[in-house]
Parts: sequence; C-alpha cells; structure tokens
Amino acid sequence: MKNEILLDAVRQYGSPLYVYNSNKIKSQFIKLTESFKNVKKLQINYAVKASSNISILKYLINMGAGIDAVSIQEVKLAIKAGVEPNKIIYTPNGVSLDEIEKVAKIGAKINIDNLAVLEEFGNKHKKIPVCIRINPHIMAGGNSKISVGHIDSKFGISIHQAPHIERIVENTGLIINGVHMHTGSDILDIDVFLNASEILFRIAEKFKNLDFIDFGSGFKVPYKPGDSETNIEELGRKLTKRFNTFCENYGKDLTLMFEPGKFLVSEAGKFLCKVNSIKQTTSTVFAQIDSGFNHLIRPMMYGANHFIENISNPNDIERYYSVVGYICETDTFANNRKISSISPGDILSFSNAGAYCFSMSSNYNSRYRPAEVLYIENELKIIRKREVFEDLIKNQVEINL
Ligand SMILES: *Cc1c(COP(=O)(O)O)cnc(C)c1O
Repeated sequence: MKNEILLDAVRQYGSPLYVYNSNKIKSQFIKLTESFKNVKKLQINYAVKASSNISILKYLINMGAGIDAVSIQEVKLAIKAGVEPNKIIYTPNGVSLDEIEKVAKIGAKINIDNLAVLEEFGNKHKKIPVCIRINPHIMAGGNSKISVGHIDSKFGISIHQAPHIERIVENTGLIINGVHMHTGSDILDIDVFLNASEILFRIAEKFKNLDFIDFGSGFKVPYKPGDSETNIEELGRKLTKRFNTFCENYGKDLTLMFEPGKFLVSEAGKFLCKVNSIKQTTSTVFAQIDSGFNHLIRPMMYGANHFIENISNPNDIERYYSVVGYICETDTFANNRKISSISPGDILSFSNAGAYCFSMSSNYNSRYRPAEVLYIENELKIIRKREVFEDLIKNQVEINL
C-alpha cells in the first residue's frame, strides 16, 4: 500500500489505526497453494488467532481456506464467517472436556494433545474420530518465546509416548483421522521442518483410518527489507515429493494440511500511529506515539522487531529515535531506531501488523482499541469501528454505594 493510501486512511478513520492489504493476503495464499499444487488434496486452514476479524475470515474462506481454531469462540466466529464446520480443525490446549465435546457436536475436526483427554474422550465418544497432536521435539526458530516444540513444552503428546497413544486407541476403539504437529513460529531451516515431518510420518503409519496429515505452521516472514523468510517453494517441492510417496505406501490419498496465521496476514498489515511529542533527554530522543502495548504488544512481549517508517516525512535526514507509547508502563516499541526525521503530528507506520497485533490488544489504561480497515479493490473499507466510551463501561456494573 502506498503511503498516500495509508495517510488517507488516517485522515478518514483517525489514529491509531490498523490497515490490511487484501492483495497481500491473497498473494500469500496463492503462493502457498501454488507451492503445493502437486499434492492431490490440500487444505490451508487459517489460524484465526493471528487476526480474528470476521471480514478477514470471510475473505480467506471465500478463497477456499479452512480454519484452525483454538477456542470454541473462534469456531463460532469462523462458522459465522461462512466456513463449513468440517473445514475447521479445533486445536485447543488445556481446555475442558466439556468444551471439546461442544465443538465436536458442532462438527469441527477435533485435535487432541493430551493422553488423559484422549482416553476420556475415547471412552465416551469412540464414534467421533479425532486427530492427535504430536510433539516431535524439534525446536523451531531461534526465539524460545514462540517455540512450542521443545521437550518441556505444554503442547502436543510427546513422540516418546507413542506406545501409550496406541494402547489408548486400541482400548477405546477410537478412530484416528489425522496426525498433527505445530512446533512454533519462525522456522527458517527447511530441513528442520522436514525432519519433524519424518517423525510425523512414522507415527502416521501406525493408524489405518487417516484422512489427513496436518503439518501445522511456523513459517517465517520477513520483518524488514532484506530480512530472511522460509523458502516456501523449496519446502513445497521437497515435502510434496515425500508426502506423495507416503500416500502411495499408505494406499490412500490423504489431505495435506497447513494452518498458517502469520504467513497469510502478517505482512498485509500496517499499524499507523500519530506522534504526540518528541522528548529529548540527555541520552535519547523519544518519539512518543498515541498508542502503547495495549494496541501492539509484540515488541514488549516477544522482543519482536517491527519495521517503523515515518510516512508523513519519508525522505528526510535519518535520526535515531526510541519509539515509545503513552501507557504508564515501560512500553518501548523500538530502541535507537534510525527513522526519517520526526516532528509532532507525523504518522508512523509499523510493518508486519497483520498477525498477533490487533488480536492481542486490550483496554489497558482505559484506552479504546483502534479501528481496523481493509484495503480491497482500491477502496478503504472499515471492518471494525474504533471503540468509544460506552464500550469501556458496557459490562461494568456500578453498584449503589
Ligand atoms: C498459533 C497457531 C498456528 C499459527 O502459527 P503461525 O506462526 O501464525 O503461522 C497454527 N497452529 C496452531 C495449533 C497454533 O496454535
């Protein structure tokens, strides 16, 4: 999206503001499906938690995406957005059996990641097929805060517990329709992914009623110009070959599934903020913006490095700024970042704001959550209104004192 469009969005809808480029979501979706075009049955399930706006869901569902949901509320949102229940895979962690049963009744695919739950579910509902989430204990990426495949991770059933899984399946008569892994974000090394896949294939062989193998997600996207990313085309070529051989040996064309969040929506999003003031201290120049970790928490929570541009004044002398928010906590977006000279009133644009940004926002400091805009067919369309004072108090009960 050109700066002019982004500035126009702020003029129309105010700041701070999230703007998503539908063309980028589409091109990422096509890039992924094209990379696996030689797989007979492919299903891309969009991970709702990355960005859960119903219009984004609808846009992806209309392109043919299924849905990866981690809560019953995400399942309901996806159905409201128009997806067929059987194109949803529900991959919860640590939820109640009651919630799993409710989602099973809705008709979504169930993915279980706990031996005790598998046994309990199997004893009660052996007619409902389930998928098993395996933890192959392969470390994804370099950032342990977003890796979920390590040995002491709470996610998945350890590959070392494979005999237990088989025993439970035998005793309960459960039908296993899929095997799944998701080892976390930012996988760069394709061989690491392929090694984890081998572990998944080995366990898949043990079950005779599979419909699909779900390889999860964790593709790395670039965060700044020149940044590295997962080579999807290469992964596509290598995994397709291996998957097709597996299906041949297995004697059935299984569905190959992925469940990307970040890959589909991260780069599509820009977060736009206005600079309230410039504060010069003895050592640092702060650019103070009209936002904080209430709107974008990834830099503070994961140390995520979001590329920042001054789109009001893009080509001036670059200076070093620490970009900070207005929350009464330390809420540093970036330390000593080189940015084109900033004046109060300028609009800063944060890249990669499409995934895990708005969906992690809050009302901390009693601030309103921003509006969201989708740029589609050369038009800016509001897809979430900015909150107002009533939103802050609508569920609060003021008792008589
Ligand atoms: C979060 C999540 C995803 C999406 O991960 P990305 O890194 O955004 O692609 C996929 N599957 C499961 C089970 C998840 O929890």
